[in-house]
Amino acid sequence: MSENQEHTKCLIIGSGPAGYTAAIYAARADLKPIVYEGLQPGGQLTTTTEVDNFPGYPEGTEGPKMMEDLKNQASRFGTDIRFGLITEVDFSKRPFKVKADDGNTLIAETVIIATGATAKWLGIESEAEYNGYGVSACATCDGFFYKGKDVAIVGGGDTAAEEATYLAKLCKKVYLIHRRDELRASKAMQKKVFDTPNIEPIWNHTTKEIVGKKEGFAKSVTGAILTNVLTGEEKKINVDGFFVAIGHTPNSELFKGQLELSETGYIETVPGTTKTNIEGVFACGDIQDHIYRQAITAAGTGCMAAIEAERFLAS
Ligand code: NDP
Repeated sequence: MSENQEHTKCLIIGSGPAGYTAAIYAARADLKPIVYEGLQPGGQLTTTTEVDNFPGYPEGTEGPKMMEDLKNQASRFGTDIRFGLITEVDFSKRPFKVKADDGNTLIAETVIIATGATAKWLGIESEAEYNGYGVSACATCDGFFYKGKDVAIVGGGDTAAEEATYLAKLCKKVYLIHRRDELRASKAMQKKVFDTPNIEPIWNHTTKEIVGKKEGFAKSVTGAILTNVLTGEEKKINVDGFFVAIGHTPNSELFKGQLELSETGYIETVPGTTKTNIEGVFACGDIQDHIYRQAITAAGTGCMAAIEAERFLAS
C-alpha cells in the first residue's frame, strides 16, 4: 500500500466519552480534529445497556445510544471520524508521526490519547450471555438497579472491596466471592468490608456458571453456581445482579517505550492536567484514570485535553 501522508493539528486516538468530548471541543476550537475510533467504536459504554448517571438524561439512556449522540455531536462540528486503528506512534520529535491501519501516515501537531481500559472478565460463557442483563463490571454504574436485592461481586482487590461496600448501601445482601481466603485489598478497605454486616464473603470459590431466566427477548440473572477450589464441591447462590471486579487492562500497549506509564500500564499525567511527559501529547479518560472510571469523568478529562491541546498550539 502506498504511503498516504496527511497533516493534522489534532489527532484523537479512541472514541469513548473522553475521545468524543475531546473531539467536540477541538472541532469547535477549529483544530479540525481527526478521530480514529479503534477496535470498539464508542468504547466500554457500548457494552452496557442503561446509563442512569450521566447528567442531562433525566430518564436515563442507553450506552450505545449515548455514544452515537456524542459521535453525531462531534461530527456536527466537522470532526473527521474514521473507523480504524492506530498501529504505530513516534513521539520522539514534533510533529508526531503516527501510522494507521488504513495505510495513512498522520503528521500530528498534537495527539490526544483516549484509548480507555478494558474490564477483565471471568471468561465463562454465561457471563457474556447475561452481560448488560444482570452481569456488570461497574457497580457505580449499575448498582442502583439492584436496590433492595441480593447481588454478588467477584474479586479480592481494592475495586471489589470498594464496590462491595458501595453495593451494600443499596442492596439487601452482597456476596463477595473470592478465589482465595484473604483479600488483596488494602487493610483499610478490608476493615470496611468486614465491618459491613450485609457483606458475606465466600472464600475459596470460583464461578462455574451464572444462571438466569429468559422470557422472549428479556433475560435476567437469578443466581450463580460456585465451585469450592479446595473441595470441588458446588453450591448455588440466588442473586439478581452479578458484578465482576477482577481488574482492568489499560489499552496502552501502543505507547510502551514512548510515554511514561505506571507500573500497571496507565499513562502518567501531570496531576490536575492531561499532560503526559511528552509536550503536545495528552491523555484523557480511563487510560489515565484507574480510580473513577466514569463516563462523566472521562468526558471531563476529554474536554481538558482539547483545551490543553488548543493552548499548546496557540503558545
Ligand atoms: P487487582 O488486580 O488489585 O485485583 C484483582 C482481584 O481479582 C484479585 O483479588 C484477584 O485475585 C482477582 N482475580 C483476578 N483474576 C481473576 C479471575 N480470573 N477469577 C477470579 N478472581 C480473579 O485489581 P483492582 O481493580 O482491584 O485494583 C487495581 C489497582 O487499582 C490496584 O492497585 C488497587 O489498589 C487500585 N485501586 C485503588 C482504589 C483506591 O485507592 N480507592 C480503588 C480501586 C482500585 P487474587 O487476589 O487471587 O490475585
